[in-house]
Amino acid sequence: MLGKIAFFFLLALVVYALWKKAQAPKKLEKDASPAVKKMIKCPVCGVHFAEVDGTWGGNRMYCSAECAKKATEAKENSRDDDVQH
Ligand SMILES: [Zn+2]
Repeated sequence: MLGKIAFFFLLALVVYALWKKAQAPKKLEKDASPAVKKMIKCPVCGVHFAEVDGTWGGNRMYCSAECAKKATEAKENSRDDDVQH
């Protein structure tokens, strides 16, 4: 009789340990997801976008290839101004 109680007690302990193990990684995933989607502000149009959706132009990141192109065009225009002066 006592052996049966001890067996069920151990079984409950093992089930609890397994349940706790199964819960832990899920909690970590939830904590990690906001850090993965880092938001960046586009220096051209000011739109906030996820880092994974961004487009690299030069050494900066833009919301789209269009904004990256606009930024490089603006740089080229300022260079022209320097030549004229
Ligand atoms: Zn933009």
